[in-house]
Amino acid sequence: LGARRRQEQQVHDDRVRGRPAWLYGVAIVAAVVVGFAGTAFIVALRVYDQALARARSDLDATARSASRSVDDSLTGTLSTVDQLLRGMRVAEVVSDRAACRTVLEPIAGLVEESYVAIVDGEGSIACHVGTIEEPPPPLVDAWRRARTTGEPSLAALSTGIFRTPGALAIVVPLRAGAPERGLFAAAAPSTLLFGSNLLHSPTPSKRYVIADARGGVVATNERIPEGTSVRFKGHGSGTWTGLDGIRRVYRSRTIGNSGLRIFVGIPERELFVQAREVLTSLIPVVAVALIVVIAATILLVVRITRPIGRFTAIVERAGTRNLAEPLRTRGPRELQRLAASYNDMFDERLRYEEQLEHRAIHDELTGLPNRALLIDRLDHALRRATREGARTAVLFCDLDRFKVVNDSLGHQAGDLVLEAVARRFERSSRSGDTVARFGGDEFVILREDIADDEDAELAAEMLLTSLAGPIDIDGHEVSVSCSIGVVVAEAETEPETVVRDADTAMYSVKARGGGGYELFRPELHLWAQERWEVERDLRRALNHDELTVWYQAQVDVETGEVVGVEALVRWQHPERGLVAPATFLLIAEETGLIRDVGRYVLGEACRQGALWEREGFHPRVAVNLSAREVDPDLPSTVDAILDDSGFDPSRLCLELTEHAFVDPKPENLEALQRVRAKGVTIALDDFGVGYSSFGTLRSLPVDALKIDRSLVVDIEHRGTAAIASAIIELSRSLGLDAVAEGVESDDQLTVLHTMGCRYVQGFLFARPAPPDHLPRRVDVIDLRDPSL
Ligand code: C2E
Ligand code: CA
Ligand code: CA
Repeated sequence: LGARRRQEQQVHDDRVRGRPAWLYGVAIVAAVVVGFAGTAFIVALRVYDQALARARSDLDATARSASRSVDDSLTGTLSTVDQLLRGMRVAEVVSDRAACRTVLEPIAGLVEESYVAIVDGEGSIACHVGTIEEPPPPLVDAWRRARTTGEPSLAALSTGIFRTPGALAIVVPLRAGAPERGLFAAAAPSTLLFGSNLLHSPTPSKRYVIADARGGVVATNERIPEGTSVRFKGHGSGTWTGLDGIRRVYRSRTIGNSGLRIFVGIPERELFVQAREVLTSLIPVVAVALIVVIAATILLVVRITRPIGRFTAIVERAGTRNLAEPLRTRGPRELQRLAASYNDMFDERLRYEEQLEHRAIHDELTGLPNRALLIDRLDHALRRATREGARTAVLFCDLDRFKVVNDSLGHQAGDLVLEAVARRFERSSRSGDTVARFGGDEFVILREDIADDEDAELAAEMLLTSLAGPIDIDGHEVSVSCSIGVVVAEAETEPETVVRDADTAMYSVKARGGGGYELFRPELHLWAQERWEVERDLRRALNHDELTVWYQAQVDVETGEVVGVEALVRWQHPERGLVAPATFLLIAEETGLIRDVGRYVLGEACRQGALWEREGFHPRVAVNLSAREVDPDLPSTVDAILDDSGFDPSRLCLELTEHAFVDPKPENLEALQRVRAKGVTIALDDFGVGYSSFGTLRSLPVDALKIDRSLVVDIEHRGTAAIASAIIELSRSLGLDAVAEGVESDDQLTVLHTMGCRYVQGFLFARPAPPDHLPRRVDVIDLRDPSL
């Protein structure tokens, strides 16, 4: 089974293409994370770039303002010097040293370390002032060179500024003369010229470098050894490592039209630090965003992927019938709706299955458990009994003569009766009992945990009493009774066996006339078996002429003449030999076979009677009828047989016991009257032991009484004699014949005769015998002989 299920699962899986939901979940998560990380990376890159660009442009701006500031400082210095020299008489100043000093001192005051001098056309210093004693030789050399070689050109000198290593010179032309005649020169270390803030910058890491057109360092805020020349490649911006070994990023600018260039640099690290700071400030934002993304992803997985997974698992389990559990999901509304519909659908299916199941194990008419369920429960009970030693009672109930209800009131009424019986049985049983409809008019009640047989019998009695009152069916009062077979099942019995035993016990109750219960005994099996065989054999006997009719003579004791015969059925059984009627007639009556038997005997007896008549022998032929044979069909049956045989109706006598007249149906009585109207006589058999009173005798359609053998046997007893005598007296007064049966002795015969009984039947004269053994006349003693 497991393998088969697996195979089914495989087939099922083969039909399903597509990847599991968790895979989509993972894919979505991966896509979201990668997408987010990518975006964050690109954004970070851009932010970093921008920060870097901003830092660079800041540096640009610094370089621009520095260049302007140096330019201002230069032009400022030049114009101050220019003003101081205005109106000066050159020859006077050159010749008079005191006058020279007076003129030059204010100029020297402009700078901290200074050497200010007036140089003549030859390059000789006419006079000088300043904190530095010797003019920086390169300055003088440059001046001389310009005078002789024009390098640097005088034109360049006349712009006012030129540089020597380690110093910056300002050259201002004297107003009164041409440059070649005499110049006023001022030279000062470059640091002083920039007295401005630049060289005392508060950011010591920032470098300012002023370079001449050749790239030589004119001034810097970096302390450099004298005469150092730093060459800036291409004079443009770039990244260089300075003297302090720190790499810096530089931006350069020209300073006015001085031919100088200023470089502003900050350490490379510092430039990136700024950008990095921007990035760092972004981290919390990114982190929050990442948390949001992860949370969203988890939400997605928990609320959609997981519910879908669960959903699928449950639906699959439900599909394989392994487990039927409702779907509980807390996913999105659509999933919940899906789950709700699924649950509804599943409930519907469960209800439907329950219904089907219920129908399969319940009886539709009464709603009681059916045979299958009963057997199942009995099986459980018996298993439990085996385990725990408990005892279980099974009561098999069969309604008596239910067919009559069906035949006379119709099947619908029959159904109503069954329903009513079911309800009554239910009411009279305990809550734990199982009341099942076993079939047709059979019910089985299962009661577990009973103490003993008496307990079971009590249950049977309760069931019987529950049927006591009549059932009202559309105004008809229907009385029902039932026969109950009771089994107290012990451990280790098969349910079918228990039910069969209960059925057998019930059958035994039926055989005794129904309306009671009986506890199963093992002997009943044999009994039932025998009856079943008899029934089967009797059917065969009817078809195979195994039945014959014997006759017993009825004698007129006064003449010894055989005036009548009683036909008695005999069965020549192929194995058992001659079978007496007592053993099979009851069974024949219960099974209805009696009609066939009766018809056979009647036909045979009439045929024999007609035969005898033709021989000149005219006995009255008495044929026994059981109560069941008395029905509205009787007249036509008798008619047909009489017609067939040609037997004289007035010679036919039908013997009926009192049973036929106990609570007789009007139509049956009428049938008897119709038979009688043809001349057929009726005898009341076994009279004197039953319960019909003398009073009712007058109203019965009978012509003769047969005094029962038990009275004859006991005739010498006074009480019995009185009854027998009264019967004979009564019959005479009612004009009925009286026939005494079972007469075996002369004494019995004498007493009967003294009482006035004329007709007798018994072994004294003749035993039942085949027709050709029947005596036509018998010897009778002279009853009038006073000596007797
Ligand atoms: P029953 O109608 O009372 O028949 C008389 C029975 O008494 C016969 O028994 C007969 O053999 C027996 N009998 C007659 N004289 C004596 C006697 O002196 N002493 C003793 N001990 N018995 C005597 P049998 O033939 O065994 O029949 C038994 C019963 O079976 C009959 O009782 C009758 O009720 C029934 N029966 C027999 N044949 C038929 C039949 O064809 N149809 C029906 N419905 N019932 C029949
Ligand atoms: Ca009889
Ligand atoms: Ca009799």
